[in-house]
Amino acid sequence: MTKKPTYKIGTLGSHSALQILKGAQDEGFQSVAICEEGRVKPYESFRVADQIITVKDFSEIVDLDNQLAAENVIMIPHGSILNALELEKIGELKAPYFGNKNILAWEVDRTKQREWLANAGLTLPRIYETPESIDGPVIIKFFGAGGGKGYFLAHTPAEFERKIKAHPKKKYIIQEYIVGAPIYIHYFYSPLTNELEVMGFDKRYESNVDSIGRIAAKDQMDLGIETSYNITGNMPLVVRESLLPCIFEMGEDVIKASKAVDGRGLFGPFCLETVITPDLEFFAFEISARIVAGTNPFINGSPYTDLRYSEPMSTGRRIAREVKLAMESDQMDKVLG
Ligand code: AMP
Repeated sequence: MTKKPTYKIGTLGSHSALQILKGAQDEGFQSVAICEEGRVKPYESFRVADQIITVKDFSEIVDLDNQLAAENVIMIPHGSILNALELEKIGELKAPYFGNKNILAWEVDRTKQREWLANAGLTLPRIYETPESIDGPVIIKFFGAGGGKGYFLAHTPAEFERKIKAHPKKKYIIQEYIVGAPIYIHYFYSPLTNELEVMGFDKRYESNVDSIGRIAAKDQMDLGIETSYNITGNMPLVVRESLLPCIFEMGEDVIKASKAVDGRGLFGPFCLETVITPDLEFFAFEISARIVAGTNPFINGSPYTDLRYSEPMSTGRRIAREVKLAMESDQMDKVLG
C-alpha cells in the first residue's frame, strides 16, 4: 500500500489567519504561518502557529512555493493573498491550495461578479454605466479586496467628478446606494457532501461611517466630513429567524450559478454581502469567494455552528475538518484547486 501524504495547513499571517491556524491545530494538523517582518507577534503570542516563516513582503510567497509544495502545506486563501499576488501568480502556485482557483477571477472582477450573482437570481443594486447618469445616491467602489478604503458617496455627476480626482487611474464601479441594514452572511459549502451550511453573520465596523452618527448633523456639515468605509473590525450578529429560509436559498442559488461559470464551481467558505431594506428585501452587493474576516468573532463557534456541531466550530476549523474528511475518504482532488 502506498503511504498517504501528510499535509500541513498554512496561510498568510493576516486577515483571518489566527482562526485558520487554530482551526488547523484543533483538527490535528501542523499549522504554518507566513508572516511579514515585524508582524509576527500575534502568531507567536496566541500560540496558533507550529511553524512561522518570515518574509519581507507577502508577494515573496512565490519564492517559497517549492518549499511549501515539498512540505505538503495546503494554503488557505483569504483577502490578503488576493491583495499580495496577481491572479495569474496565484494560479501558478504549485503548493496545494484549498478551493477553486478559477472562481477567484469571478470574485476579483466586479463585472463578472455581478453576472454571477444576477444569474443566481439575487437582487442587486443598480449599476450606473457613466458618471453623467447618476441621478440618486451612489457609492463608488474600487476593484480588488481593499477593505472599503477610499469608497465614497455621491448623488450628482458634479459631486462624483470632484471626488474622483483623489483616485486617479483606479478602476471603479458606481453602484446605487441602498439604505438599509448591512448583513454579511457566512456560508460553507462542502464539495464532499454537497451541503450548504450557514456559519454565522457579522456587520462591519467601518471608519468613519460608523462614527459619523455620534456627531450632530450640523457639526458634520460644518466639519465638511466625507464618509469613508475603511474597515477596522467586525461585530457578530444573529438575524431575525424568519429570514433564514431566504438566506439558505440565496446561498444555494449562488453555488448552482457558480457551477455554470466554472464546472467545479465554488466550494468551501464564502460570504454574501447584503443590505436588507425596511421591506425585508435582500440586496446583494458583493460576494467573497473565500473566508471573510467577518468570521473572526466566531473563533469559538457561532450560535449557528453551535446548533449543528457539538464542539466549537469556526469557519477556519471547518476548512481543516473538510480537508481531514477528504483525506480520510481519498477525495483530496475535490477540495484542492
Ligand atoms: P464592500 O467593500 O463592498 O463590502 O463595501 C464596504 C461598505 O460599504 C459595506 O460594509 C457597506 O456598509 C457599504 N456598502 C457597499 N455597497 C453598498 C450599497 N450598494 N448600498 C449601501 N451600502 C453599501
